[in-house]
Amino acid sequence: MLNNWVVAPTCLPLVIRRCHICASDRFRASGRFRVNANHKLIDAWLLVLCTACGETAKLTVLERMNVRSVRPGLLDRLHDNDTGLIAELLQDPVVRRRNRIALDWDNAWRLDTGGSDHLDREVVDVSVRFAARIPVRPVRLIAEGCGLSRAEAERLITEGKLVSAVRLTSKLSGDFTFTLKR
Ligand SMILES: [Zn+2]
Repeated sequence: MLNNWVVAPTCLPLVIRRCHICASDRFRASGRFRVNANHKLIDAWLLVLCTACGETAKLTVLERMNVRSVRPGLLDRLHDNDTGLIAELLQDPVVRRRNRIALDWDNAWRLDTGGSDHLDREVVDVSVRFAARIPVRPVRLIAEGCGLSRAEAERLITEGKLVSAVRLTSKLSGDFTFTLKR
């Protein structure tokens, strides 16, 4: 029987970016967008706040874009300060590259295993799904989900009792499966 685990965000990740006022390099989403329309051209930014000093920074979402080429619904969501849109944009590689930011997912996700009943069996097959592209080492998830220490999980890998098609000790952010034999 295949068990399904989910890695799910619990809140928005922090934005890694250097503050030009203080020495901090973490910003949090303010929950607001700023939209500027000039004739037919639109600029839109996501406003983020320095976690240390509160300084506001703007992340570019749209840059001098013709209003007619903005995808339907996007303007309404920008004007409504849509929280789901903030999450989508932060995870959009184009937005991240354009603004030269990375994300800090520490304490912003959880692992849902649907209970621990399956852990008593001799062979456990688990499919892990990522609800957002959260970079994490599979060995850490497996240790947490199976109630093992990180060292125990690493020993099981070495002994060939914990197997997967992916490298369990390197960070990944996409779905994978693993098998644990005891
Ligand atoms: Zn600051």
